[in-house]
Amino acid sequence: MARKRYLFTPGPTPVPEDVLAATAAPVIHHRGPDFKRLLAETLGRLQQVCRTDNEVILFTASGTGAFESAVANLLSPGDRVLAVSQGEFGERWHKLASAYGADVTPLSYAWGETPRAEDLAAALSSTPADIVFVVQSETSTGVVADVQALAAAAKDADALVVIDAVSSLGAVPLETDAWGIDVVISGSQKALMTPPGLAIATVSAAAWERSESVTSPRFYFDWRRYRKALEVGSTPFTPAVATVAGLNVALGRLLDEGLENAFARHAALGRACREGAKAMGLELFSPDEERSAVVTAILTPEDVDARELVLALRDRHGITVAGGHGEMASRLFRIGHIGWFDVFDITIALAAVELVLVDMGAQIETGAAVTRALEAYAEAVTAA
Ligand code: PLP
Repeated sequence: MARKRYLFTPGPTPVPEDVLAATAAPVIHHRGPDFKRLLAETLGRLQQVCRTDNEVILFTASGTGAFESAVANLLSPGDRVLAVSQGEFGERWHKLASAYGADVTPLSYAWGETPRAEDLAAALSSTPADIVFVVQSETSTGVVADVQALAAAAKDADALVVIDAVSSLGAVPLETDAWGIDVVISGSQKALMTPPGLAIATVSAAAWERSESVTSPRFYFDWRRYRKALEVGSTPFTPAVATVAGLNVALGRLLDEGLENAFARHAALGRACREGAKAMGLELFSPDEERSAVVTAILTPEDVDARELVLALRDRHGITVAGGHGEMASRLFRIGHIGWFDVFDITIALAAVELVLVDMGAQIETGAAVTRALEAYAEAVTAA
């Protein structure tokens, strides 16, 4: 019998069985009435999850594709961007906007630091920008930014705000309209519990207006094509119909659970994971705070190479967790807990980490992590 496998990464994430079943249904034609109904329902659900009345564009692409659409539709060469960056993805958006010829000013933090709205306000007053990019959940570090405060600082400086919510949408609160966010980007393979392959952008009236006069080249990602096709309930190009069917079911699940309940569950999972790791004697890299509900980044003991830990978890126990990016690769590993996760996923991950660390000769506290994780989860659920 094949060994059971566990996917504990912050994307792709485990997919519930009814979502998988929907992706395996007979393929429908994207110009027929069935797809028209499916698309309308899926986009309506996405609006609810994003808490917006703005139009939602659905791309057959990964999250980076949707982000590229924002750059291509909002920026002409030479336009000024302020990119808030606290890790891998903030740095990626800087490079992407630079590739389109934008004049990018970074507001950079050391990996693991949390961006501050007052720094953004100060940066925008000394170097004004037309657009501000913010990563809500920096998946490389586990930091979740205070998007409400950052968006307010950008609005005060009359900039449009683009939020990378690729790993956070559906896991932590995001109020697109109430917080005045112009563009939200996300992807199917994270808290939305769907296989990779779909990405979204929500577009405010101000962002639409700006996109009309932009001179960057665009074709596949030209928002105007999607808007025109949507007028007849369609998409400009062949969409990944099977994945859309899955996404629709996943969004239905999320809305049935209730967004507030989903946020509380993610906060409790984050707390359980952090408390369990600390009980083992490990040091957290991600902040030990309630908002850090997407992924927990943990440091290995000094003499343990995190890359070896990650490989041993996979090869000995069938468990996939994420390693660290860049300079952190030798010390950092990350346990994701977004989407189709419950507390027993956390205890499996912690128990296996403990087993492997002991095998590797690390000096850790044994037998405490699982108990503490369960306790912390129960405390969080009672408090919510
Ligand atoms: N932004 C964040 C915060 C992410 O976590 C990821 C993927 O891990 C991306 C962007 C890139 O998304 P994709 O790999 O779907 O292009």
